[in-house]
Amino acid sequence: MSDHDFLPPAPLRVFCNRTLNMRSIQAIGFDMDYTLVHYDEAEWESRAYAHVQQRLLGKGIPVGGLQFDAELFSRGLVIDLQLGNLVKANRFGYVVRAAHGTQILPHEEQRRIYSQVWVDLHEPRWVFLNTLFSLSEACLYGQMVELLDRGELGEIGYGALYDLVKTTMDAAHLEGELKAEVIADPERFVDIDPLLPQALVDLKQAGKRLFLATNSEWHYTKPMMEFSFDRFLGKGAWEQLFELTIVQSRKPSFFDSASPFFGIDSKGEVIDGKHALRQGGRYRGGNARLVQEYLECGGESILYVGDHMYADVHVSSRIRRWRTALVLRELEREIAQEQDFAQQQHELQDLMRKKERLDREQALLRLSLQRAERHQPLPEGLPSHLIPGAHGLQSIHERLRELRHDGEALDHSISPLARKASELGHLRWGPLMRAGNDKSQLARQIETHADLYTSRVSNLFHLTPFGYLRAGRGVLPHDASR
Ligand code: IMP
Ligand code: MG
Repeated sequence: MSDHDFLPPAPLRVFCNRTLNMRSIQAIGFDMDYTLVHYDEAEWESRAYAHVQQRLLGKGIPVGGLQFDAELFSRGLVIDLQLGNLVKANRFGYVVRAAHGTQILPHEEQRRIYSQVWVDLHEPRWVFLNTLFSLSEACLYGQMVELLDRGELGEIGYGALYDLVKTTMDAAHLEGELKAEVIADPERFVDIDPLLPQALVDLKQAGKRLFLATNSEWHYTKPMMEFSFDRFLGKGAWEQLFELTIVQSRKPSFFDSASPFFGIDSKGEVIDGKHALRQGGRYRGGNARLVQEYLECGGESILYVGDHMYADVHVSSRIRRWRTALVLRELEREIAQEQDFAQQQHELQDLMRKKERLDREQALLRLSLQRAERHQPLPEGLPSHLIPGAHGLQSIHERLRELRHDGEALDHSISPLARKASELGHLRWGPLMRAGNDKSQLARQIETHADLYTSRVSNLFHLTPFGYLRAGRGVLPHDASR
C-alpha cells in the first residue's frame, strides 16, 4: 500500500460502478465456487472436460482425440447456436471478433456474417459465458463444431450439439465422480487466499451479518470450505463466520422462487422439513426473500458477492434489488498487463490523435476540391498556403498526396501497437471489459448490474468494512471538447 493514498495496488482494488458505503451494508452474502473458493481453472475445467468427454465416448460419440485448452475462450464471450460460432460483442451487441468452432474468422468474413446481426441475449440463439465454469463447456463445444463440420457427428445441428454438451456437462457436475476427484486432492485444484479469512473476520467483527449461499451440495461445500479456512481459523470454524449456510440454493431461481428451506445436519441429511431460519442454521434450498425477511433489512443494505454474471449478480440486483459485487479473477492479470503496456498505450493514443487530425485535414481538402470544381466558395478553416492561388488546385493535390503518404506511415506505426493492445488479458479475445475502443458486452452487463467488481473477495480486506466507494464521474464523448 502506498503511503499517500491508502490504496492497494490496482489489481487488488474494488472497483465501483455505483456508489456504495460499506458502513450502510448490514448483511453480506457470498457464493462459494470461484468466489470464496477459487480454483485453478486450467485444473478444474480440464477435469470437468474429461468427465464430459468420457460420458460422450460412452455414448459412442468420437471425441477421444480432443483435448482441453483453457486459453481458447474466455468469460464474457457468447456462443452463437445458429452458426456454431463463438463471438465477442461490444456494449451494443455488435460483434467485434468471431470464431467458427475454435478458429478465429478473418475480419472480412466476420463482418460479412455479423454486420447486420446484433447479439441480444434475450434471444435463444445466444449463450453467454457467465463464469470460469463456462471455459470447459465452450472449449468442448467449439471443438465438437469442427467434428460436426467434418461429418464425424452424424446428423446433428449446432443448436442440438450445444444441448448435448450442456446436458452432459450438467450431469458431470451433478454426479459424484468429478467432485470426488476434487475433494480427494484439493491441493491440486484450490487456490488458497491467505488474506480471505481475515477479511471475513473483519467484516463480521464490524457487525456485518454474513451468509453463504452456494449451489454446491453440502458434501462438496464442507470439504472445500474446510480446506480453504481450517488452516487459518481452526477446524470447522468457517461455519461460525456465517449466520446462515445455504447449500443447493438453485440460483438464479433462488432469487425469485418461493422454495422452502430444509434444515440439514452435519452430514447434509435433512433434519426437519420446511423450517424457519435461525442464527447459525445450515440449510438446503430456500429462497432469497426468506433470507431477507430473516435479516429484517431492506435490499439496499444487503450485498451479495459472486462470480456468475447472471445467477449471482444480474438476478439478485434486478429481482431483489440487493447490492452486488462481481468477482472476476482474470482482472488481476489483465490490469497488471495493462500497467506494463501503459507507455505504449500512451504512444498509441498519440498516434491516433495524429491520425484523426490528418483525417480532418483530408476531409477539408476534399471538400475544397469539390467546391472549387463547381466554382463555389471554399470551406472556412483552410490553411492560407492551401488556398488555391496562381497554381490553381495544385497545392491541394500535393498536400493530399503528402497526407496519404503520412497516413500510411502512421498506420504502419499504429498497427503493431493496436495489435498488442488487443491481446492484453487474452491473446485471442483481448481485454475482458473492452471491445476495441468500446466497452465489451460483459462490461455493459457489469455496469448495469454489478455495483462493484473486483478480482477476489479478499480485496474487501483492503477496502475495510468502513470503506466508502464512490462511482467515478464517467466519460462522455463530448467531454473531450472542453
Ligand atoms: P456456486 O458458484 O458456489 O453457487 O456453485 C456452483 C455450482 O454449480 C458448483 O457446484 C458447480 O459444480 C455447479 N456448476 C457449475 N457449472 C455447472 C454446469 O454447467 N452445470 C451444472 N452445474 C454446474
Ligand atoms: Mg460461483
